[in-house]
Amino acid sequence: MIKKIDHIGVAVKDLNAAIKFYEGLLGLKVVDTEIVEDQKVKVAFLPVGDSEVELLESTAPDGPIAKFIEKNGEGIQHIAFRVENLTEKLAELKEKGVRLIDEKPRRGAGGAMIAFLHPKSTFGTLVELCKRG
Ligand code: ZN
Repeated sequence: MIKKIDHIGVAVKDLNAAIKFYEGLLGLKVVDTEIVEDQKVKVAFLPVGDSEVELLESTAPDGPIAKFIEKNGEGIQHIAFRVENLTEKLAELKEKGVRLIDEKPRRGAGGAMIAFLHPKSTFGTLVELCKRG
């Protein structure tokens, strides 16, 4: 049911500085940037093969990315798996006792439908399930 790693979310303090590294030194290219208002985050997507790096900069001091950086410093914040049927997968995981952050799919960056699973249920990693198209 899980198709691939859709993207890896990386929390950064300064999106432009991070883009300079990823584009200028690693040779990746930003294909899309977007502000996701309800998550208080500015996002840049850089495809790598069949997956993407998602750079995340907080737009507010109380946003989830700002809080993450405060606690853990910059770095990998979540891993996103592409699924075909998000609603079904969430229901299945819930039934099996997995703690969900999002009970229902919501709109994420890039027009995807997304939902987060709680790190307490996933051995410490914030897991995003993501459905596109
Ligand atoms: Zn993500």
